[in-house]
Amino acid sequence: MTHGLKPSNRRRRTRAIAAAAAFAVAIPLTAGSPALADPNFPSTEGSTNISSIATYADLVAQLERLERTSRFGVDVTTLAEVGTEVSTSEQGRDLYVATVGDGPEAVWLQGRIHGNEPYGTESLLSVLKELGTNGSPDWSLLRETYTFHVIPMYNPDGSELNIRQTVLQDGSNQRIDLNRDWGDGKFVADESEAFYEYWTMVDPAFAIDIHHQGLKTEYGTGDDVTLSLGISLAPGGPTLPGIEGGAYDVLTRQMHVHVYDELAKYGNINMDRYQVGGSLEIDIKGGVVSAMMLGYDYKGLNPEGHSNPAIFFETSGNTSDGSLGQKARGKSIRQNVLALQEVLLGMATGEVQQEDPARWEEIPHAPVTGYQTDTGVTPLF
Ligand SMILES: [Zn+2]
Repeated sequence: MTHGLKPSNRRRRTRAIAAAAAFAVAIPLTAGSPALADPNFPSTEGSTNISSIATYADLVAQLERLERTSRFGVDVTTLAEVGTEVSTSEQGRDLYVATVGDGPEAVWLQGRIHGNEPYGTESLLSVLKELGTNGSPDWSLLRETYTFHVIPMYNPDGSELNIRQTVLQDGSNQRIDLNRDWGDGKFVADESEAFYEYWTMVDPAFAIDIHHQGLKTEYGTGDDVTLSLGISLAPGGPTLPGIEGGAYDVLTRQMHVHVYDELAKYGNINMDRYQVGGSLEIDIKGGVVSAMMLGYDYKGLNPEGHSNPAIFFETSGNTSDGSLGQKARGKSIRQNVLALQEVLLGMATGEVQQEDPARWEEIPHAPVTGYQTDTGVTPLF
């Protein structure tokens, strides 16, 4: 394990540990001792059992139960009820959003935009349950500071098919990656039009997106990575420093540094920076969270040019390559929940905004050789 970052504030760590301990009691985890767990938790031996993964019907049932039983007002709605012009998936499924909290700023939490990346759904349902039921000071602070818009299954059709994309129903059967479908000449799929319009209604202060990646090892050490921290427009890259006077270039790195610090104490979580092709920083504009940061205006729905910073998490292992690892399920979900909890609390308390963004360089990563853009690779040298 490589924990390159040092705790910068002892008092802060104590509070975070207390919060995590409270959390561990509140959420039932898998049997076994996390302290003794194999750090290499997703494995190539993990035959993926799709039947254990949350289905669309599971999602709807769990959302309705949370709405019924939550002390703190979880509201479950469909985009048809919200009244967006396009309001269902390509195959006609309702698109669900749950809201909770009374705070003045909106926060957008989305998962499973890639249908074969299942734990975004379960991680967000776990966070939603805490937001709806947990009366502790931390969760109360979150509800007072923010109104959360939680989208646990952005891509229900792909989820039911266990594929990354959605499938167009115009006769072409074309598969569309919904995370490349906000941008010029895009918005091909109904899901994109629907959630984009909803985003222009919400105008969130920031967004977090949950994904899976394949098995990955840390550059330099070869240790298995369990969680990669991503920003879809590379900090210091061709695009992000030019947005909002560089504010998102700073804040997204601060968010990563904070999550890294707070999760590095868990022995079975090993983090690095999300890169592609071994050594490329991602700088794609068609991703949903990229378009959010760019303040994309489609059909005149965002005339004021609202934009917001966004980061994403990539849990290692996915259903497509059979590497999900059934035994890792609880740990994979838990690390997402912890990461979400810590970044949300850090934003609410202002701890994130006080992090040193330059320490983003200390998060393990391969030496950067270039940028992966929408149209190809831009080499650094
Ligand atoms: Zn993904």
